[in-house]
Amino acid sequence: MTRPDFRITCCLCGKPVPRASDAYDLDREWQRRFPDMTGTLACPCALNNSWQCRDGRDRYVEGHIPALDSNGMLTPPGRDFDSWCHVGAPGTHVARVLINPWSGLLQGAEEYLRHTAQRSGLDPEVACRLQRVLDVWDAHHR
Ligand SMILES: [Zn+2]
Ligand SMILES: [Zn+2]
Repeated sequence: MTRPDFRITCCLCGKPVPRASDAYDLDREWQRRFPDMTGTLACPCALNNSWQCRDGRDRYVEGHIPALDSNGMLTPPGRDFDSWCHVGAPGTHVARVLINPWSGLLQGAEEYLRHTAQRSGLDPEVACRLQRVLDVWDAHHR
């Protein structure tokens, strides 16, 4: 069986993320501000959609969820000030849906992820994590 192809639908603009461009993972502060987002993977439109973390008095807006770095540690306040601080490192579509399979399922990569979970030679830890997410997904959609 050949690897199923997939297109990610951007969680912000609803358009397919262009194959040639990276996908960006948006964090919980984005989800708070855009509660209608489906999944968390965006096309580069996220970089044009800017907002500030602080109000006019330099205080974080109410409900602000602090930005985390790639290790899940709090970003220092000096580096948590606008929408860019809340965009994860860009990655290929495949990398992004494997790191964030739940968003992948929501945004068009279901067939690809199912195929990948069954693939021999996949890192057992990745396979195990993927299968757990698929099990939860199936329990929700039965
Ligand atoms: Zn977009
Ligand atoms: Zn912030």
